[in-house]
Amino acid sequence: MSVSHYDLIIIGGGIPGLTLACGLRGAGLRIAVVEAQAAAHVSDHPRAYALSPLSAKIFNAIGIWEQIAPAITHFPQVVLSDTDYPHRVIFTPADIGESAVYYCAEHRVLQTVLQRHAATDAHITCYYGTRMQTVTYGAQWAEVSVTTGQGQQTLTASLVVAADGINSRVRQQAGIQTDGWNYWQSCVTAFVSPAQSHQNIAYERFWSSGPFAILPLPDNRCQIVWVAPHQEAEEIAALPPDQFMAAMQKRYGDHSGSLTLLSKPLVFPARLKHSRRYCQPRLVLLGDAAHHCHPVGGQGLNLGIRDAAMLTQVLLTAKQQQQDLGNIRVLRRYGHRRRIENWVMLLFTDILNRTFSNHWQPIMVLRRWMLRLMIGWSPLRRLMLRLMAGLWGTQVSNPLNTLMTKVVMTSQSSPKPGTRMKSPEPRGGNTV
Ligand SMILES: Cc1cc2nc3c(=O)[nH]c(=O)nc-3n(C[C@H](O)[C@H](O)[C@H](O)COP(=O)(O)OP(=O)(O)OC[C@H]3O[C@@H](n4cnc5c(N)ncnc54)[C@H](O)[C@@H]3O)c2cc1C
Repeated sequence: MSVSHYDLIIIGGGIPGLTLACGLRGAGLRIAVVEAQAAAHVSDHPRAYALSPLSAKIFNAIGIWEQIAPAITHFPQVVLSDTDYPHRVIFTPADIGESAVYYCAEHRVLQTVLQRHAATDAHITCYYGTRMQTVTYGAQWAEVSVTTGQGQQTLTASLVVAADGINSRVRQQAGIQTDGWNYWQSCVTAFVSPAQSHQNIAYERFWSSGPFAILPLPDNRCQIVWVAPHQEAEEIAALPPDQFMAAMQKRYGDHSGSLTLLSKPLVFPARLKHSRRYCQPRLVLLGDAAHHCHPVGGQGLNLGIRDAAMLTQVLLTAKQQQQDLGNIRVLRRYGHRRRIENWVMLLFTDILNRTFSNHWQPIMVLRRWMLRLMIGWSPLRRLMLRLMAGLWGTQVSNPLNTLMTKVVMTSQSSPKPGTRMKSPEPRGGNTV
């Protein structure tokens, strides 16, 4: 069995995992990305994401925004409303001083651009169709056993990054506990096309059963995220197409004309999960492996992209200072900060969902008063949008600004040949 040595091994080649690999591109670190699915399959998910302005800045810093921007929508408005309450909150780019309030990107677009970008660095090896089986942690390095189409293989590295999703096998094997709960709701997602132009306007309308979001996409398509109690969601998704579209049209409204269904509706259970720690010696958790939240407000992937940005910063600094990447003191610089920020956002999505998926009169009065306040008092509206966009507070934005400078500088300067950091000697060649 051959053994290949890397500086870090990222398990899970989804968007956060590849964002980390691309952020470290050009830094001279030898990186392996282990992804269970084939390259074409992993980008082939019928899903679109609301992408925050901070995620856009991160993609810009790692040099891929120019390829992403033309293939996604830039929202000039996001409209927030409560059932049939006539007063609506309208967020505009002026609220945060950005060129768009938010963006909407298909999974396929982000994943393909990241895969291509990672493939252009000779230091990054992507193992598609390769499943991680076990990880063992030693004092000097971690050993990852994987199964490829050709059989078993062993990879070693100073650091293992678990980016393998909500049911992370790496996290479970490491014995890291999670806290959280299953919501009483599931989300039905589908792609539709309205008869009239959607004008790139996004809507999030709260109903007592759960939020209903319309995310505009290029070519006048939209992704719908319809949250409802489990049984109702299953029943909605199982309706014959004409009845499904009639129900959808009722929720969606007539503002863009009649709708055409473009994809089979899919159902996802809504859950909240948070790892009790994000790191231990030679292991760090990233993306859904570390946290998973309710889909209201479109936060999950954005948090994973921010994790990747922060970890990039920490690892680049450690490399510059010739520190061991798997040292717990290095990893805690990432773990502490991200865990706190992610807790705030998990709590925020939970409160938002519970406050709006509710028809108890006092709560309805309170939330409608809040909506009126947001409409009339712009500082509150701006604060709310800055929080959702990840642009709030100095603790978060300033380190990320520093990261942007560091990432851009590092990826522009070519790695010095032969530069080695204090890490264990390779136990085998890069033989895969
Ligand atoms: C209905 C719905 C709507 C959403 N909308 C939004 C939105 O608008 N905005 C937003 O920011 N977020 C949104 N999210 C959240 C977002 O989908 C997730 O946060 C994001 O996909 C997590 O990415 P990840 O790479 O961490 O995990 P995953 O996407 O689960 O990827 C994990 C990867 O690891 C691989 N893997 C797993 N096990 C192994 C193994 N043993 N070996 C090798 N590889 C392995 C998998 O094949 C996969 O490619 C939504 C979620 C849902 C359910």
